[in-house]
Amino acid sequence: MSRFDYDLFVIGAGSGGVRASRIAAGYGARVGICEESRVGGTCVIRGCVPKKLMTYAAHFAEDFSDARAYGWSVGPTSFDWPRFIAAKDKEIDRLNRIYLSLLSNAGVELVEGRGVFIDRHTLKVGERLVTAKTILIAVGGRPFVPEIDGREHVITSDEAFHLTSLPETIVIVGGGFIASEFAGIFNGLGSKVTQVYRGDALLRGFDDDVREAVTTGLRGHGIDVRLECGIQKITRARPGSFSVHLNSGKILPADQVMYATGRFPHTPGLGLEAAGVNTDNRGAIPVDGFSSTNVANIYAVGDVTNRINLTPVALHEGHAFADTVFGNRARSCDHRFVPSAVFSNPAVGTVGYTESEAREVFPAVKIFRSRFRHLKHTLTASEQQMMMKLIVCRDSDRVVGLHVVGQDAAEIVQGFAVAVKSGVTKAEFDATIGIHPTAAEELVTLREPVET
Ligand code: NDP
Repeated sequence: MSRFDYDLFVIGAGSGGVRASRIAAGYGARVGICEESRVGGTCVIRGCVPKKLMTYAAHFAEDFSDARAYGWSVGPTSFDWPRFIAAKDKEIDRLNRIYLSLLSNAGVELVEGRGVFIDRHTLKVGERLVTAKTILIAVGGRPFVPEIDGREHVITSDEAFHLTSLPETIVIVGGGFIASEFAGIFNGLGSKVTQVYRGDALLRGFDDDVREAVTTGLRGHGIDVRLECGIQKITRARPGSFSVHLNSGKILPADQVMYATGRFPHTPGLGLEAAGVNTDNRGAIPVDGFSSTNVANIYAVGDVTNRINLTPVALHEGHAFADTVFGNRARSCDHRFVPSAVFSNPAVGTVGYTESEAREVFPAVKIFRSRFRHLKHTLTASEQQMMMKLIVCRDSDRVVGLHVVGQDAAEIVQGFAVAVKSGVTKAEFDATIGIHPTAAEELVTLREPVET
């Protein structure tokens, strides 16, 4: 009989933690998991899923307008925020219940509360002490808001999902994933949106052509994108209304001010020092390819490790951890060629290197690029363009980067990502017959490299 209560205890029942605990239990381990909020974690409760539902809600505005160009008479339309939020919450409740039953069906014991380390094998969860041979940290991240005068007036994405009413005007600060996605959501639902970003093009870290296309596209949809713009302070103008003071001296009125300025690992207060677990200067837990921390029996997966902060990556890391430690099947995590998407409007789908990264890694590259109007918009008034780009290593002919901006970008790139990850060459793209008429066929008909 083991001297520990559990073979594995997981801190955090989000994507990575739930996957790891279920798989480990399937291998026969006695598993417990604790959660201080709702089972499902960021993705299900206050991230990817409710956000995607919001992007669907927002898109109807454009669909109604496009429908008229196709001969439909669309009557008066209006959007009922409380009705939508209630429908969205009902779905999140359903998913939360599914996650709870996944755990119980797998025989994983749920302990409610935040886990805090007492030592490397012991945690305090609420009033209870639990001991485990192996501990997995999967606590995710939390929104970060910089120290700014008037910080108490701002919301983050956490609150954006639960506003009691749709703001007439909103200022969104940041130029990353969340800011760009919520700019499109609030704009589509009818708010007047100003997006304030300190850099010279949105989505730093993405390919420059993607950044340019998204910045232009967001503006084309009516979002007031202010680049190279800082915020001095935020003051309350009157109840329910704020003034955003820009460094330029201009003042923007706003019913809500949303900061989407990154997320930090949720490690403060976890007692990591009591267990001897190291963190870096962001509070992230450094791990090796098998998600091992510097302490032999303690592992970490997902956003808390700040590797690639995406749900499917956390699932992969959690599964690989359980296979390695409990399934007798050592499996390291593969973080190469991970596709990702930004559900902005226009949307982004991407896999592999950006052009500037590829130019540093490979001796010579060929760039193929196309900008065109989607067939659907030949009848509408939309000026939106799609952008597609391939980056090819000249020596090997391998496609090392693939980027799409525009309608269905994420759906398109998921399929191509299989090929890119498998090492597909440009010649194999050329040998593939397109599906006509689609936007995606453009990717297999890009013949001439652009002059660079
Ligand atoms: P990001 O890191 O994507 O963007 C943060 C933004 O805030 C950047 O534009 C950054 O500017 C800016 N910023 C940071 N600090 C400050 C500051 N002190 N003052 C002003 N601006 C600042 O973070 P998000 O919060 O958007 O998203 C967090 C993570 O969640 C993402 O990195 C992603 O991994 C994940 N996510 C994934 C989604 C998806 O897969 N579709 C959707 C949503 C989130 P700068 O660029 O100059 O540093």
